[in-house]
Amino acid sequence: MPSDLREIRINPIVPSESVLVATARGNRPKKAEELAPRDSRSHVATCPFCRGNEDKTPPAIQAIPDEENWDIRIVENLYPVLGDDREQPDLNLGMQQTIDGYGRHEVIIDNSNHGIALHEMTNSHIALLFRTYRDRMQILYESDERLRYVLAFKNFGPAAGASIPHTHSQMIALPVVPDNVQAEVDHSHDYYEKHHNCVFCSLIDEALTFETRIYDRESGEVKRQIDVGQYVIERGKKFIAIKPFASRYEWEIHILPLVHQADFKDATDEDMEDFAAVLKRTMARLDAVLGGVQYNYFLHSIPHNRRFEENIPSYHWHLEITPRTSIPNGFELGSGLFVNTISPEEAAEQLREVELTKE
Ligand SMILES: [Zn+2]
Ligand SMILES: [Zn+2]
Ligand SMILES: [Zn+2]
Repeated sequence: MPSDLREIRINPIVPSESVLVATARGNRPKKAEELAPRDSRSHVATCPFCRGNEDKTPPAIQAIPDEENWDIRIVENLYPVLGDDREQPDLNLGMQQTIDGYGRHEVIIDNSNHGIALHEMTNSHIALLFRTYRDRMQILYESDERLRYVLAFKNFGPAAGASIPHTHSQMIALPVVPDNVQAEVDHSHDYYEKHHNCVFCSLIDEALTFETRIYDRESGEVKRQIDVGQYVIERGKKFIAIKPFASRYEWEIHILPLVHQADFKDATDEDMEDFAAVLKRTMARLDAVLGGVQYNYFLHSIPHNRRFEENIPSYHWHLEITPRTSIPNGFELGSGLFVNTISPEEAAEQLREVELTKE
């Protein structure tokens, strides 16, 4: 076990998104943000997302199973960042280029229970939630061919930017592909051209089989040992949760299908059952280690751009979970180089050591 680490790790998928791992003992640990406690009440009379207050939100786009006894409810966002009601031409004036803010912004009320955390939901409810994302994504893409990307994401807890405490996710349909998704698509495409293999699949293989020792040249002692499964947090029949080797956020975890799949919309109901189990256990581990985890998660799936077909063999959908334990500082924002004071190997070990109670 190396005592101190100080190295820049290159993200194998997007090399420009690198991270500085600096765990030297004298290194000041990043101060944990004073987290406002999350609201864990199950019903709040004044909450617009709680049952009985359905008239306080815009009309439901969909209620599952029905408007009387819904478990999941989709509504328009009251303060959309994008909408489809404007007829406004694109502005192109010198350096000021704009694209009309065409799109959709919807809220998915995850659960009728106001403050329930994801790991407290049942597997079948989590599977239903992700099936809802999938089906809604399909409908949004089909609704307008100008839509290039549908982003499903969740902010949980005030530290993660959730403005309404009732558990909910959001879906934003965009006329452009976000830069970070496009960077993943482009780099994985380049990797495929070179290696005839999906880079995400290669990373999964490596996480599952890689084992090596680096010996000191002079003493011959083991300088560094990389163990099998060092980055694996959870494994299901069809999904795996891994701690990326070059994580930007200390407790960041990615969940990916074990078998290559580019499009989240192709995941079957059965896939979602296994995915839900892996996600629930992963969130329980994070919650145990961080003592009430506040986080963002978002889905990255193949965008609907012109090269859709071409990117199917090289892109691999995934869920990125980024717990919020500190606020990025000036160095990080200015350099784009995120500093990680806990090595990903150690974070993974702590997460694996959590003993979970069987459901
Ligand atoms: Zn509520
Ligand atoms: Zn793949
Ligand atoms: Zn991604």
